[in-house]
Amino acid sequence: MIEVTVYVGLGANLGDVRSTLSAAYSDLQQLPGTHGHRCSPWFSSGPVDACGPDYLNAAACFETALSPQSVLAELQRIEACHGRQRPYRNAPRTLDLDLLMHGQVSMNTPDLTVPHPRLHERAFVLLPLATLAPDLFVPGRGAIRSLLPAVSGQLIEQVR
Ligand code: AMP
Repeated sequence: MIEVTVYVGLGANLGDVRSTLSAAYSDLQQLPGTHGHRCSPWFSSGPVDACGPDYLNAAACFETALSPQSVLAELQRIEACHGRQRPYRNAPRTLDLDLLMHGQVSMNTPDLTVPHPRLHERAFVLLPLATLAPDLFVPGRGAIRSLLPAVSGQLIEQVR
């Protein structure tokens, strides 16, 4: 059984975003077959390609032997528990959980792309991730430090 480090992006912009993010991280900590959980500080940012209130974002990681597909299924189950609906693309959401990385896996299937295809474009993903894992190497993209300058113009603020 080979374990890898999995990185997950957390975001919320509807309802009580602080309690949603806390509850979602607690749900991740309780996932069977996972251990060694850590969570980044929280960041607040305006919506990108979307509308609605500001987002609260964080990144979390844990060790697991679960497959990328199994992790995605668990993330979607947790989203559904928090009332996530998808009325239209990029609609405001109570909770968004993205599988950012699964060890050094690179995969592209109709249901799952890893690393997350927009990871490198978004300050609200890169900053929490870089805080959690400053020496991270993103397959196909490079060292996380090298990705930060491209998003330095995006407004984002650490809130906790
Ligand atoms: P969203 O509505 O933005 O949360 O997008 C969810 C959709 O993106 C689902 O249909 C997933 O199958 C797909 N998807 C592809 N790659 C990923 C990924 N790395 N993490 C989360 N969802 C993904």
